[in-house]
Amino acid sequence: MQSIKGGRQPMQARAAVMSERHGRWTIDTLEVAEPGPQEVLVRVVASGICQTDVHARDGFFPIPCPAVSGHEGAGVVEQVGSAVTTLTPGDHVLMANPSCGACAECRAGYETYCSNASRLKQSGYRADGTSLSFRRGTEPISGSFFPQSSCASSTLATARKTIRVPDEGPLDILAAFPCGVNTGASAVLNVLKPQPGDSYVAFGTGTVGCAGLLAAKLAGGDPIIAVDVFDERLALARSLGATHTVNATDPQLVDAVRRLAGGRGARGCLEAAGVPAALRAAVEVLAPRGTACLVGSAGAGVEVSLEMRTLPQGRSVRGCIQGESDVQTFLPRLIALYRAGTLPIERLVRHYPHAAINDAVADMLAGTPLKAVLQIGTA
Ligand SMILES: [Zn+2]
Ligand SMILES: [Zn+2]
Repeated sequence: MQSIKGGRQPMQARAAVMSERHGRWTIDTLEVAEPGPQEVLVRVVASGICQTDVHARDGFFPIPCPAVSGHEGAGVVEQVGSAVTTLTPGDHVLMANPSCGACAECRAGYETYCSNASRLKQSGYRADGTSLSFRRGTEPISGSFFPQSSCASSTLATARKTIRVPDEGPLDILAAFPCGVNTGASAVLNVLKPQPGDSYVAFGTGTVGCAGLLAAKLAGGDPIIAVDVFDERLALARSLGATHTVNATDPQLVDAVRRLAGGRGARGCLEAAGVPAALRAAVEVLAPRGTACLVGSAGAGVEVSLEMRTLPQGRSVRGCIQGESDVQTFLPRLIALYRAGTLPIERLVRHYPHAAINDAVADMLAGTPLKAVLQIGTA
């Protein structure tokens, strides 16, 4: 790996470093490179943690170790690259998932399906493919995860996926938005598009499922039925706007949901659990012409079976990444809803000190809280 180059005294950052696969994160001091022409240096205030960071630790996203992960960064721009015209130092920002902007999918307006996304998310290198964001002494450290590595007190991000947000923030709540909240809310508002009075079912009520549920409520969905295996999550879902809840272990799950959805079934379902039985049930509870949308992630080789007679009545089964959202316009729209009090994302968030990242991940894997957010700095 090529080492960091640059003329100035190296910027230092405190970062959660993942030294080895399946290991623990340790907080260490790293040197941060200068921003390239299209990059910004961001002083990170907070970072959400999600399953993807665990996938990085465990090799599902094979960023080489040692590495800094984190892909829901919120902070303040410190320095901008020579070609950056959209941001200035002092801007409060969120850092979102990458895309190249040049491939066929990007040109067609579907940047969440960018052909170059995998390399940009997980190679460990910056967009030029050879240089790094961090080093520890002489040791190269992989960064540029999604491509921001936001579990560091200062980091580099690409300007085109760094989104200016209101100075009022608060950044330690907005850190939940770039991945989890965006995925659930966008899958509902941009893909399923429920109309007032449409029946909606949330399979899985973690951050993504609850964000989708809140979006369905905003769109006028009714009834809104939440399905999960955890009763405490179902209680939260009801308090967020679910009109009905059903425990996923109910042997009559499909019949119960169809009955609650008015007998003909649901117009839209969001499968945010990543569980084959949940996707099968999401298809079986659909009304004619209804759509089941998969956003839950599953590992390679996981299969689902469907009864073929469930599909001919115009039912659709599809998936999406990040709700196909254009984050430069959609995240500000969500933030406006949050600030107006109609998207109470703060109810999903629990804060942890930066150094407690291992506790945050352990709690997240145990199902509480819905969204762990590390407090890394101050605005
Ligand atoms: Zn692309
Ligand atoms: Zn994520």
